[in-house]
Amino acid sequence: MNQRLDMLTHAVAADVQRLNIIVFQFLKTMGFAEEIECRHCGVVNMRPKVDGIEVDDKCADCGKTLDPLSDEVFTDAEIMDENE
Ligand SMILES: [Zn+2]
Repeated sequence: MNQRLDMLTHAVAADVQRLNIIVFQFLKTMGFAEEIECRHCGVVNMRPKVDGIEVDDKCADCGKTLDPLSDEVFTDAEIMDENE
């Protein structure tokens, strides 16, 4: 019984993953998703670009921030402070 449940869980997980890939490929084609390669571990993260969907800017694999601008924003803010 447990083994059956395990097989079913694996089958469902594989289906969900396949569906996920299809949805993301479609969204990417339509311009509603983007692929971002993690600077830290090199894993490609797929993120939706749809209004109303909150996007986690953390890498799914290593948990570090994906946004390449986040570091620069900090630097810019510091430069602006110095100029005042
Ligand atoms: Zn990563």
